[in-house]
Amino acid sequence: MTRKAFVIGHPINHSRSPLIHGAWLAEHAIDGSYTAIDVAPADLPDFFGRLRSGEFTGGNVTIPHKEAVFALCDSIDPLATTIGAVNTLVVADGQVHGSNTDYLGFLGNLDANAPGWDRADRPAIVLGAGGAARAVLVALQSRGIAVHLLNRTRATAEALARQIGGAITAGALDDFNDLAPGAGLVVNTTAVGMHGSRFENLDLARLAGDALVTDIVYVPLQTPLLADAQARGLATVDGLGMLLHQAVPGFAAWFGIRPTVTPMLRMAIEATLEP
Ligand code: NAP
Repeated sequence: MTRKAFVIGHPINHSRSPLIHGAWLAEHAIDGSYTAIDVAPADLPDFFGRLRSGEFTGGNVTIPHKEAVFALCDSIDPLATTIGAVNTLVVADGQVHGSNTDYLGFLGNLDANAPGWDRADRPAIVLGAGGAARAVLVALQSRGIAVHLLNRTRATAEALARQIGGAITAGALDDFNDLAPGAGLVVNTTAVGMHGSRFENLDLARLAGDALVTDIVYVPLQTPLLADAQARGLATVDGLGMLLHQAVPGFAAWFGIRPTVTPMLRMAIEATLEP
């Protein structure tokens, strides 16, 4: 029987997930499909009825449904609760299980493109305390890495650090220059970098020469932060890999094969990022 998966959102036509999963379905000659389905918020409960009836093996959830599906799932992965968002659904025996694979995408991207990045016994600096920062904090905690969480609005960083718990200290973006010499990793999770915007007061010269700089913004692929880091000879990893790697666990659960993020897949998705 053809196994069917989906991404639901509203709107949904911007999603690159059908391209990613479509490429893997073709590569592995799987009798399956992955389609983008526009589901308005009011129609979400009905859609879950279709899920429980066995029409789909599972799928992805994107904006604006990532929080609303909590109330509709039969079970939720505890880390998705900590992150505060569900992006992956798996249906088994008429029950819908929700999880979040963004933190695995973040880890998979760094593991593939900067192997050994988590071996240095130094804290990371995470810039930003919005939705995406939660997944990054959970990811770094899973590898035992302490974090300085710096945000434009300091109070938001303080609240998030309290909520996630563990070895996270909160501060403002202005604290970067003092903390930079001791950091092994810098992660941008803010919207800064999109549309050519840049951080004004971060002095990357204060970072150690072996520090790694990564950005989860992937439009543009080369953000000003990454360009500045490269100009200083620092290693960098861009954000597209996080998008590609977060798709791996879902595909494996729905179609039974763990796919690989290949350079060819990356090039195909990269081509869709052109202005
Ligand atoms: P969000 O919840 O709206 O959070 C935005 C964050 O950016 C907040 O910390 C905010 O600080 C900060 N910020 C916004 N404008 C700023 C400015 N001019 N200067 C300094 N800080 C600023 O957004 P999100 O969902 O976390 O997403 C953030 C970015 O991550 C987006 O670009 C998104 O595309 C990207 N993302 C990428 C992936 C991937 O797979 N690569 C996955 C998820 C998200 P305040 O608290 O002070 O407002």
